[in-house]
Amino acid sequence: MEERLQKVMAEAGVASRRKSEKLISEGHVRVNGEVIKQLGTKVSNHDEIEVDGVPVQREKVVYFLLNKPRGVITSARDDKNRKTVMDFFPDVTERIYPVGRLDYDTSGAVLMTNDGALANGLTHPKFKFEKNYTAKVKGIVNGADLKKLENGIVIDHKKTAKAKAKLISTDDEKKTSLVQLTIHEGRNHQVKNMFMAIGHPVAKLRRDSYSFLTIDGVQSGKWRALKVNEVNRLK
Ligand code: URA
Repeated sequence: MEERLQKVMAEAGVASRRKSEKLISEGHVRVNGEVIKQLGTKVSNHDEIEVDGVPVQREKVVYFLLNKPRGVITSARDDKNRKTVMDFFPDVTERIYPVGRLDYDTSGAVLMTNDGALANGLTHPKFKFEKNYTAKVKGIVNGADLKKLENGIVIDHKKTAKAKAKLISTDDEKKTSLVQLTIHEGRNHQVKNMFMAIGHPVAKLRRDSYSFLTIDGVQSGKWRALKVNEVNRLK
């Protein structure tokens, strides 16, 4: 099937349709090695498209928010044959993968996409979107503990960035606390290590949101496609 060049470019995540038209008319786009400036040009699946010499990945870009259950690996495959996040997308044919990681025993929000540029941007250390966690921890957390979490804790010789911490509830009988922690970084096992460092090991961890994308309304083990305006906010 043939489609208009700007539509194919937009669907591949190169740029919006309007911006793709501009790229075409300004001579940035080649089809099968030839510069194409004609806006109505149609291309098929077999045509090779390049923008400023960079080949365009022809697969349509897709974006999903998964509410990962505990007991699932956040990677495309697992050599121990455990359940992975991919198992929740049997009918999705695009080659999606998770952006960042949640531990095997952590549940909650995981973004899945085949948009490599977006995934790279989101996982870059300077990227500052918030991640919101609810942690059930051992012991009764007090105000001083919350202050330590907020001000930063030295882990592996490096202090964690400023965070937000809020005590939701305590269970005096079971000697546990429920704490909401909002961080901007994504260091390995960061939340567990932060609580461990203040003497309150994590018993259960859930990521409630990845930036503005919350798992509200997405049941455990289910996912939803992102809306166009949500994708644009992530870019
Ligand atoms: N921090 C952790 O310790 N584990 C996760 O899965 C996510 C953040």
